[in-house]
Amino acid sequence: MNSTLKNLKAEGRCFLDEPLANHTTWGVGGKAKIFVIPKTLEQLIEIVAFCDEQNIKFKTIGFGSNLLFLDSGFDGIVISTKNLDHENSVRDNSIVVGAGESLTRLSRLALNNGLTGLEWACGIPGTVGGAITQNAGAFGMDISKVLSKVLVYENRQLLTIKATDCEFSYRFSRFLNSKSLILDACFTLKQDSKINIKEKMQLFSSRRLQTQPFERSAGSVFKMTKEGAPAGYLIEEAGLKGKQIGGAKISEKHANFIVNNGGASAVDIINLINLIREEVFKKFNVWLETEIEIVED
Ligand SMILES: Cc1cc2nc3c(=O)[nH]c(=O)nc-3n(C[C@H](O)[C@H](O)[C@H](O)COP(=O)(O)OP(=O)(O)OC[C@H]3O[C@@H](n4cnc5c(N)ncnc54)[C@H](O)[C@@H]3O)c2cc1C
Repeated sequence: MNSTLKNLKAEGRCFLDEPLANHTTWGVGGKAKIFVIPKTLEQLIEIVAFCDEQNIKFKTIGFGSNLLFLDSGFDGIVISTKNLDHENSVRDNSIVVGAGESLTRLSRLALNNGLTGLEWACGIPGTVGGAITQNAGAFGMDISKVLSKVLVYENRQLLTIKATDCEFSYRFSRFLNSKSLILDACFTLKQDSKINIKEKMQLFSSRRLQTQPFERSAGSVFKMTKEGAPAGYLIEEAGLKGKQIGGAKISEKHANFIVNNGGASAVDIINLINLIREEVFKKFNVWLETEIEIVED
């Protein structure tokens, strides 16, 4: 441990052998050797420099709503962005927020300022940094369509990257599987009446409530196929709804959600993912790709 980590430990912001199950929406995952929640950019930079010098691997985490850590845990440093200091700002049609800001709070900030374009993000239980990494989206929208630029820490430099240079595609950006840290993001939106914006948000929220399970999950496990077939439809047609392995279960409400039905392990989830892939392949000759990210140790 270097002095930054020691100081953060004294402040209750750095934990040894921390169960990752406490930091993922699935509630699954073994222990991280070190789990750290920096507050300042300086602390973040020092932690990354320490990892580089000591050849220690690190993984950035937002709200852990798209991640599956293995039961063996993570033999390195997991860096949480959730408490990174940042002042949100709104100017004309632009909003700038920190990477650790929640998508729901971002969409409410847009609403409160009469700005449309982020209604779909309300209710997604992730951070802005995680959403940019995954190019999260819903209801025909995704984050790439409203993002204008991001501030990142990459190769020991602070860089501003235009959205058009983020290599966005369906649930992908250049930040996925990279060592870049997204620090803040600027969104360019359009003006609309607060009533219209609120109506859209309520419509999307009620659709989520109707179609998505309440149990712990990581949202959709698989991507839509290249041919445009929803994975949930294929899983349901393969007769797999309700199938359970250990504590992991294919939701009865939405077949593309695997829920933690109590005491699920990462192995239970991975076995269920493999079973789904094989059964869907047998029936439709399609190999499903995961939308969730499995973090290799
Ligand atoms: C109930 C439920 C509903 C969901 N609905 C949707 C939906 O409608 N649409 C959708 O797209 N997704 C959905 N998801 C999945 C998930 O919420 C999104 O992908 C979300 O954007 C992930 O954000 P996060 O902060 O949790 O990221 P994490 O899961 O913590 O991390 C995801 C990836 O981003 C990286 N990352 C996180 N922060 C940073 C950063 N600051 N800098 C660099 N890399 C970073 C991580 O290393 C990891 O690779 C849903 C999940 C749940 C549980």
